[in-house]
Amino acid sequence: MIALDGYVALVTGANRGIGAEIAHTLGSLGATVALNVRSDASGARSVIERLSAEGHANAHDVFEADVADPAAVDRMVAAIVERYGRLDVVVNNAGITRDGLAVRMSDEDWDAVISTNLSGAFYVSRAAAKAMMKQRSGSIVMISSVIGLVGNAGQANYAAAKAGMLGLTRSLARELAPRNVRVNAVAPGFITTDMTASLPDAVKEAALASIALKRFGEPVDIANAVAFLASDAARYITGQVIAVDGGMTFV
Ligand code: NDP
Repeated sequence: MIALDGYVALVTGANRGIGAEIAHTLGSLGATVALNVRSDASGARSVIERLSAEGHANAHDVFEADVADPAAVDRMVAAIVERYGRLDVVVNNAGITRDGLAVRMSDEDWDAVISTNLSGAFYVSRAAAKAMMKQRSGSIVMISSVIGLVGNAGQANYAAAKAGMLGLTRSLARELAPRNVRVNAVAPGFITTDMTASLPDAVKEAALASIALKRFGEPVDIANAVAFLASDAARYITGQVIAVDGGMTFV
């Protein structure tokens, strides 16, 4: 049974896609959600309105920060702890793609993806861990990717960042376990969001052929796994990676 009553949860990149759905799911389970956005907050505000309409009107709020900016991240986490007095769950979801073959990849495309997807997760986790260690409880969940497990032609930057998140997960899990802070990762497969909508049909067909369940995932499939890892139901799980991919990878 998963319940998050009394929990305060920060979800990065919560303006749309998987992050918005994670924020909605955690809020539905009783958490008070701090929805991080880069600048556009319209989607995050819709999530809060939806939660309120469904009877989950906790003090959810929007917190603006570019996760790739460590000073902005520190300010955001401090503002959340100041506002709510605690921080129980952090979901490192914010992410981007800048695809291209490695031999032609620009320094800018490499740096942008590493900065947002990997360094961003580190900055947020570092700031949150300080509050969680004081509390002697907490759960950090990384949204990695199956691409971080198996690699992908045209995504060297993204695969390196997502694999890096797994090393970060395992190292933080070891460092923070003595203070009862758990750190785990979810590795989504092919999930229908803006990120995958623009892929060519041939890429989508090839992806579908490689999925044992023969369908793409939905954001709520990721949100459900995150909710489990965030909750006390997963209190004895740390340093692990759960692939939520319909049987795309078996590693
Ligand atoms: P979307 O592109 O739909 O949404 C990404 C979200 O991240 C947006 O809200 C975006 O903000 C936000 N974001 C991007 N950069 C920053 C930043 N620097 N600071 C704060 N927020 C930022 O992606 P998805 O929902 O599909 O993906 C969410 C996560 O799941 C990503 O980490 C992605 O790599 C991962 N993933 C997705 C898969 C899929 O199939 N969709 C598969 C595997 C992993 P804004 O709205 O302002 O652009």
